Amino acid sequence: MYTGSHLKLILAILLIPSVFIFLIAADSENRNFNNDSELTIEKISLTPIDTDINLPTEDKILIKSGDTFYSTLIKFDVSPATINKIGKDRKLKKFISLQVNDQIYITSKNGLVFVKRFDEDFYLDVLTIDGAKYEFEKKRDNLERIAQFREFEISDSLYASGKKAGVPESVLGDLIYIFGWDIDYAYDIRNGDKVKILYEDIFSNGRLVSNGDILAAEFTNKGTKINVIRFTQKGRKDYYTTDSNNVRKAFLRTPIELARISSHYNPNRKHPILNTIRAHKGTDYAAKTGTPVKVTGDGVIKNAQYSNSYGNYIDVMHYNKYMTRYAHLQGFAKGMKKGAKVTQGQTIGYVGSTGLATGPHLHYEFHINGKHTDPVKVEPPNAQSINSYNKKYFDKLVEERTEIISNISSIQ
Ligand SMILES: [Zn+2]
Repeated sequence: MYTGSHLKLILAILLIPSVFIFLIAADSENRNFNNDSELTIEKISLTPIDTDINLPTEDKILIKSGDTFYSTLIKFDVSPATINKIGKDRKLKKFISLQVNDQIYITSKNGLVFVKRFDEDFYLDVLTIDGAKYEFEKKRDNLERIAQFREFEISDSLYASGKKAGVPESVLGDLIYIFGWDIDYAYDIRNGDKVKILYEDIFSNGRLVSNGDILAAEFTNKGTKINVIRFTQKGRKDYYTTDSNNVRKAFLRTPIELARISSHYNPNRKHPILNTIRAHKGTDYAAKTGTPVKVTGDGVIKNAQYSNSYGNYIDVMHYNKYMTRYAHLQGFAKGMKKGAKVTQGQTIGYVGSTGLATGPHLHYEFHINGKHTDPVKVEPPNAQSINSYNKKYFDKLVEERTEIISNISSIQ
């Protein structure tokens, strides 16, 4: 029976605002297909989610500041002695350490108390308390990934407009990160810019366990559309434009977030301590002692040592021809030594004032083919694009996801 798939899709969106279940092909290279000619992608089925979703009858508890495992369980008539016994069980250390905004589920039935929470891999940890006895098990319910669609036009800030359209905070954060490589939010955003996002929510037996990743997004900035989709290549999840380019750059703009530049790269600078003309071959970032310093690109540590001028410093070799240097560090992060592998954004050390430094700051250098370069002016290359092994599969996914995203619209 043909009813016009796009029409059906739009109807689903209109009737049940932006919630639908779908089956989508996995966007990772660990796929299974016999040969290229049988390369198929599972079609998306758009079934509106049941309006009276099967919610379990249990108390969902959102942990607030000051809440402890003890203060939470005592309300369910578990005896102090039992709670203390559980508290001393080393196997349960992680389970009972509660952080603000954690969610746990508690049911009390026939004298038994069930405490449930999800771990970071979405396993359901269940603690069953029976008087003075207790039992702990890890379970895996069938996880359901439900795609959510949101669309908005920017009328004030990207953040405020996204919030108004009901985009969860974590998804907005991801969106800002993904497009932040290409769009300068302070200068490039215009009123009327449009954003469409397809992201997934992860449910387990009707419980929303987590707002998941963005699967695909479209950003119309000053009339130009940028489409991206998620893909996992060599075990790393990244976002790629539809022409297979990684949106991520191989280097972060700065090794410290939101730090002020206190001294620019300058080949003719008068040195503040030595008082002689001595080139300043890097960029200085003013920051408090102890501020984490992040490695700007993937690489291998070449040196992590002390010198009289640089103090504690780290040199990182990146693939091909790049090297970065981080100097005057208070100290190194754990495991940072010669030969250690580092990943972009990983904390490698902490701001200090060791060596020839007037105050706490980070001295950052960028070398290309052994030559000093101004770190602020360098145009970083994009991180690895889709490789030939994944290209065909990726192109199929692009087709599938851009079709979904360009055909859904809830804005009339
Ligand atoms: Zn410097």
